[in-house]
Amino acid sequence: MTPSIAERFASITQFQRGGHRAPHKPLLLLIALARLQRGEPQYGAYSEMAPLLAELLALYNRTGLAHPHHPFWRLQNDSSAIWEVPERERLLPLENGGDVSNARLISGDAHGGFPTEIDAHLRAHPSVVNTIATGLLHDNFPPSYHEDILNMIGMPWVVEEAPRRIRDPKFRGSVLRAYNYSCAICGYDGRLGEKSMGLEAAHIKWHAAGGPDEIENGLSLCTFHHKVLDLGGLGIDDELRVVISGDVNVRSGPTDWLHQFHGQPLAPPQRESFQPALAFIRWHRSEVFKQP
Ligand SMILES: [Zn+2]
Repeated sequence: MTPSIAERFASITQFQRGGHRAPHKPLLLLIALARLQRGEPQYGAYSEMAPLLAELLALYNRTGLAHPHHPFWRLQNDSSAIWEVPERERLLPLENGGDVSNARLISGDAHGGFPTEIDAHLRAHPSVVNTIATGLLHDNFPPSYHEDILNMIGMPWVVEEAPRRIRDPKFRGSVLRAYNYSCAICGYDGRLGEKSMGLEAAHIKWHAAGGPDEIENGLSLCTFHHKVLDLGGLGIDDELRVVISGDVNVRSGPTDWLHQFHGQPLAPPQRESFQPALAFIRWHRSEVFKQP
């Protein structure tokens, strides 16, 4: 059976290939979908898309390295057949590594976009664009990234459709309870009336990467430390101590809410069996934490 257009987009998902997480292709596709949604022409100029893609990669790629020309060129060769560079022949032959350089894509005025039949189908079916964008976000990034990515690419907030993997509604409550409703890093335990405020249950190994909804994969964190954990600005070592990435700079402010916790142990949960499991911590260090 021929895969649907949405299935072809989903097939580029990076996590299933083993090895390291690589958000390059999903981010390029999201930028292109946002262009299409705004009614811009089928093919967009590399010189216009590359700066935004580089900015996104600097934030959301594990290494912080931004090479926007890699996905722009390589996505053409993906078996999904959802990306075209019309100037392809003119830009050949390939340089070392089988790529075309950033400089050549700019000087050759390269463009990229969806093949005509896909482009036409998506323009005629805006709900399919929403489905695909939702899928790309859920399959590749933790929820704390979604709104920021959509804001950066200029795409209206995508209406949540049925998630691909069901989330356990008890996860949040169980994790917050295990840590006595306070941040395992800074101890924040603010409440608004009776209810915790600004406190979240973080997945250490992302749900998008197959991380389970279990207490050993969770941490009760304040909104700020949750965000920094998901971005890789902090990690956790095998002794359950906080490690702040060498890439983190805090320029001013009354208190540095990151470096003061470097080397500090996480607050222990109520039972030892609730402690973060090493497998999840190590996944986070290898796939998310920005190594100094
Ligand atoms: Zn905190």
